Amino acid sequence: ESFDAMGLQENLLRGIYAYGFEKPSAIQQRGIVPFCKGLDVIQQAQSGTGKTATFCSGVLQQLDFSLVQCQALVLAPTRELAQQIEKVMRALGDYLGVKVHACVGGTSVREDQRILQAGVHVVVGTPGRVFDMLRRQSLRSDSIKMFVLDEADEMLSRGFKDQIYDIFQLLPPKIQP
Ligand code: AMP
Repeated sequence: ESFDAMGLQENLLRGIYAYGFEKPSAIQQRGIVPFCKGLDVIQQAQSGTGKTATFCSGVLQQLDFSLVQCQALVLAPTRELAQQIEKVMRALGDYLGVKVHACVGGTSVREDQRILQAGVHVVVGTPGRVFDMLRRQSLRSDSIKMFVLDEADEMLSRGFKDQIYDIFQLLPPKIQP
């Protein structure tokens, strides 16, 4: 199996190859296509198996670039992980012109608001700051159609359950987890 056989857009493939990937990992072979079909996907895998690029590719493939509105929300348990996902999303989506922003604690709220108001396609963040941005309506949820929980087990064990639930309540009813 190859990335070429997955039916991905040309400019996404360019990003994947430019990032240095040649062949999909096992989880990518099994996960990317179902994600792109809009199915609810749970991937359980060790770290280092390539799950970040799996959901990033799935998200990027499904964005509508004629709209500069947040269409995908990715939650991660730590700031570092959220920022790492932001980098991968930006790199893989480089030729698509994706606008990604990481909303994490410990950074300027004003700056987050400015960037979100200027327009993004994807937000990656930690639950606290993301909820804050939704509550302030700096992050509009109307166009969000994909919702990814990275390391869901870790987030639940860190006590983010209530915050994730609160965020979920602010998202449109028909959402792809
Ligand atoms: P992850 O499991 O998402 O944390 O990824 C682990 C590491 O594997 C990262 O350094 C990725 O850049 C790398 N990686 C992911 N997918 C591939 C691939 N298809 N080919 C080569 N390296 C990859």
